[in-house]
Amino acid sequence: MFIKAENLGKVYGSGENKVIALHRVNLEIFEGDFISIMGPSGSGKSTLIHLLSGLDFPTEGNLFYEGQDIYGLSDKKLSAFRRRHIGFIFQQFNLLPVLTARENVLMPLLLDRKQEDEAYFNELTGLLGISDRLTHLPHELSGGQQQRVAIARALIAKPDIIFADEPTGNLDSRSGEEVMKMLVNIRQKFGNTLVVITHDRRIAQMAQRRFVIVDGILQEEEIS
Ligand code: ADP
Ligand code: MG
Repeated sequence: MFIKAENLGKVYGSGENKVIALHRVNLEIFEGDFISIMGPSGSGKSTLIHLLSGLDFPTEGNLFYEGQDIYGLSDKKLSAFRRRHIGFIFQQFNLLPVLTARENVLMPLLLDRKQEDEAYFNELTGLLGISDRLTHLPHELSGGQQQRVAIARALIAKPDIIFADEPTGNLDSRSGEEVMKMLVNIRQKFGNTLVVITHDRRIAQMAQRRFVIVDGILQEEEIS
């Protein structure tokens, strides 16, 4: 999946409350890329990946997935497109509290009326070390385990691209590093494209392409 963002801009509010969150971002993401984006709080990181993943709409600019104009899709088609092609990992895990870990992981397939690939499910949950936690509810799991369930959920429909918005931001440094290593390992194994937002320079440096965003302006770092 080749992704091209053209002049993506986002302005929140108007008049005195106007905030320019993102300045005309141009970005090409190639299949299999591993990208990190670093930047201070309020610099536009979440805004950018919400736009890139079709979770939100820009005030200007376009987004193409394999040439297809994503913002031109109807709500229904966009939701279906997202379920089939995009995985999203949130800082706050966002698991459904009344569902077991297993049910949370399988939710995207249920919504899409897709059959479960049992072997893939077992491999994924095994790689994430949650095979023996699948009947538990989210509140019975540690933060690291909850995020690993959320990663399995993001990957269960075999997305082309995974967006992760500070996936380790709610974890202590040890479980954060563990979670990140698993994510990197899984990406390598299944070949997904991965875009990770992080505050942590060590995590940013795991990526092949590194970006910095300041005041809504995105720049790629040269890697020597
Ligand atoms: P980051 O993820 O880097 O912390 P955000 O993308 O969340 O930054 O926010 C960028 C800027 O846009 C900030 O100044 C923030 O206050 C503002 N902002 C984000 N969401 C909204 C919103 N829904 N309404 C108004 N301003 C917003
Ligand atoms: Mg953010």
